[in-house]
Amino acid sequence: MKRIGIDIGGTKIQAGLVLGDKILKKIKAPTPASAKDGLLLIETLLNELTKKEEIAGIGIGVAGFIDIQKGEIISSPNLPFWNGFPLKKAMEERFKGAIFVDNDVNCATLAEARFGVGIGKKNIVGIFVGTGIGGGILIDDKLIHGATCSGVEIGHITINPKGPVCMCGRRGCLEAYSGGWAIMKYACYKAKNVDEVVRLSKEGDKKANLSLERAGKGLSLCLANLITTLSPDMVILGGGVIKAAPIIFEMVKTQVPLIALPVAMRDVQIEMAKFKEEAGFLGASLLG
Ligand SMILES: [Zn+2]
Repeated sequence: MKRIGIDIGGTKIQAGLVLGDKILKKIKAPTPASAKDGLLLIETLLNELTKKEEIAGIGIGVAGFIDIQKGEIISSPNLPFWNGFPLKKAMEERFKGAIFVDNDVNCATLAEARFGVGIGKKNIVGIFVGTGIGGGILIDDKLIHGATCSGVEIGHITINPKGPVCMCGRRGCLEAYSGGWAIMKYACYKAKNVDEVVRLSKEGDKKANLSLERAGKGLSLCLANLITTLSPDMVILGGGVIKAAPIIFEMVKTQVPLIALPVAMRDVQIEMAKFKEEAGFLGASLLG
């Protein structure tokens, strides 16, 4: 039966009508600046997608810390006006069928595991590098949420306690080395985006070069430790920064095997994500 997947991001809300791995219809709109308007927009998008057709369930991925049991947004740096919002409850009052809420990167990891590069793999680490860094981990084919019922904050793993200050206020997080904002910062703001850092690096700009190197090293160190800890079948790297700077992916492929415990490294595949922006809502349709 058809399902609905919704991806609520900082800049846009995307939704799709999904049957298995097939996206039958998709739609997107800018994220409104209040939870009330957000709900109204979701209602419009869903009416447009379903045309009152019956659906099996609605899954929602949100960029933030989510209490998946309550379906509540604990907090979201990108959507501060949704902080504390009981999304599942509000949706249940408006729509029929089961409603599920989870973190957006968990959803993207699930989409890759079921329909993307991770098909058939049960232990997967997904890392998505954009402006910030998000992660999702599947162990024995299940997403892990931990005691806080939230996501897996791989971007805020400390790789150097004396390192640069991160957006979260702590020092030396992975994100402060390998996130899009950090890559631009350490290229001395010469570039407007990571594509430009890559272009400058190819032209021989030393700072752009060092910045990409620093990003690749940070990600490799973090990933090697995750591989040593979890012994996954597959690591999936995705997100705008990895697409814009394939050199980071190449550095990871070369450096990780030199750092990780050989026995944990033996059977792991490191792959690029298959899906682009549809991963969030596709994965959300699989929740529950
Ligand atoms: Zn941090």
